[in-house]
Amino acid sequence: GETITVQELAEKLKKTAAEVIKKLLGLGILATINQEVDFDTATLIASEFGIETELKVAVDKEAMIMAEPEDDPAQMVIRPPVVTIMGHVDHGKTSLLDAIRETNVTAGEAGGITQHIGAYQVEHNGKKITFVDTPGHAAFTAMRARGAKITDIAILVVAADDGVMPQTVEAINHAKAADVPIIVAINKIDKPTANPEKVKQELTHHDLVVEDWGGDVIAVPVSAKARIGLENLLEMILLVAEVHELKANPNRPARGTVIEAELDKGRGPVATVLVQNGTLHVGDTIVAGHVMGRVRAMIDDKGRRVKKALPSTPVEILGLSDVPEAGDIMVAVEDEKLAREVAEKRKQRKKEEALKASAKISLDDLFKHI
Ligand code: GDP
Ligand code: MG
Repeated sequence: GETITVQELAEKLKKTAAEVIKKLLGLGILATINQEVDFDTATLIASEFGIETELKVAVDKEAMIMAEPEDDPAQMVIRPPVVTIMGHVDHGKTSLLDAIRETNVTAGEAGGITQHIGAYQVEHNGKKITFVDTPGHAAFTAMRARGAKITDIAILVVAADDGVMPQTVEAINHAKAADVPIIVAINKIDKPTANPEKVKQELTHHDLVVEDWGGDVIAVPVSAKARIGLENLLEMILLVAEVHELKANPNRPARGTVIEAELDKGRGPVATVLVQNGTLHVGDTIVAGHVMGRVRAMIDDKGRRVKKALPSTPVEILGLSDVPEAGDIMVAVEDEKLAREVAEKRKQRKKEEALKASAKISLDDLFKHI
């Protein structure tokens, strides 16, 4: 990472080097005037002196591009809910996602679904819902680790013939930790062995009490296979969304999260991004993790080229200089030079971290052979 000498830090803080050295000592760091300290330490020292913002502005360009200016309430408009489907393996997550998608392919799109970009939107009673097709819980965890919150509502799929299973519990815990409301989809009710009441009873052991048991958790019986209850599920999603008044400001630079990314043979780096606030336009300069670029083209979940993407919209982006990682936060930046600098700095940091990791491995390897 970036560093600053004790001397420079003292100058920035308008203190003497001796004063800074003394504070460092207080933190258990023995330093000389020309010694370099990292910015975390520098920030800590600054706050010890009661000076916080000055230093941050001076050193942290990254904070500048990541800053989220408060939105004017008058600019906020309702946005579609972003929904993730979770649950135990084989309980029907993929089937349910596919069923919802297929039953909502409108006449205009007949000819089928050509795109698979890791997220899609459907319309129900004129209102949109965005479904994120995270490949299992690992992606959810990875995204959360990076501070990306992409889900407004979690659909917990529980197979009615199998009941609450270890990954069901895991999913409940994930959703609770992320403070995301849960709607239970009791799936496979077409099966003769289905026992939805047993599922409801088991859920109570995990603090999920459904409505007909006197609680406030919505449970919808469905069958992904027989296409039962899907409309009802969409209805309930919109209801929960309405209660939570999900809003965003389309009139500001875009901010979102990378859902997936890859190097495409013909098209170069391609990233699927969920726009979460603001509007992303073709031509925008963006930074996503250690990658910067200018949006050359955008493709929506129906395979159409689009010029802009509003909040809660998933789009594929072309024009990046490299492949970002799933979970990376993407921001549109007006100052291209600043965007480049931050991306460069992050790339450098990534390289150093990778080097450190490999150095550690080789050292470990060395000891192994002794
Ligand atoms: P996932 O692991 O949660 O994504 O589960 P899948 O969607 O892959 O489904 C697992 C198995 O359950 C597949 O064989 C599906 O055909 C089957 N399945 C999914 N939904 C239903 C349903 O509503 N009824 C029945 N009978 N089978 C289903
Ligand atoms: Mg699956």
